[in-house]
Amino acid sequence: MPECIFCSIVSGEIPAEFVLRTPAVVAFRDLNPQAPTHILVIPTEHHENAAELAQRNPGQAAAVLAATEQVAHEAGLTDYRTVFNTGALAGQSVFHAHAHVLGGRDLEWPPG
Ligand code: AMP
Repeated sequence: MPECIFCSIVSGEIPAEFVLRTPAVVAFRDLNPQAPTHILVIPTEHHENAAELAQRNPGQAAAVLAATEQVAHEAGLTDYRTVFNTGALAGQSVFHAHAHVLGGRDLEWPPG
């Protein structure tokens, strides 16, 4: 999947500010942060979105979820939001499954 920017981050071809790396997941700071803490947690395997990841590799989906808590905790957050945008109309722009971990400010609901 050479066209996928997140696969290129996993392989190290594109640099990122990593906060976690395991065989199953990598986590790095979002290039365009929407909150004081904005970390992306992605599976090392390429799957288009979170639902596809959960269907095709439930273990790696669980690892992504566990890592969201770990990176939030390590960032000093007790309150934070985990977002999986799925589909362009929902705001997904990179079609490699990823969780946004957002925190460090008041987060409104409903989201925009
Ligand atoms: P989404 O819109 O849900 O698909 O989220 C994709 C996210 O990836 C956006 O918040 C982008 O700012 C972020 N992003 C895109 N390219 C990079 C990159 N090279 N390094 C870090 N974050 C990125």
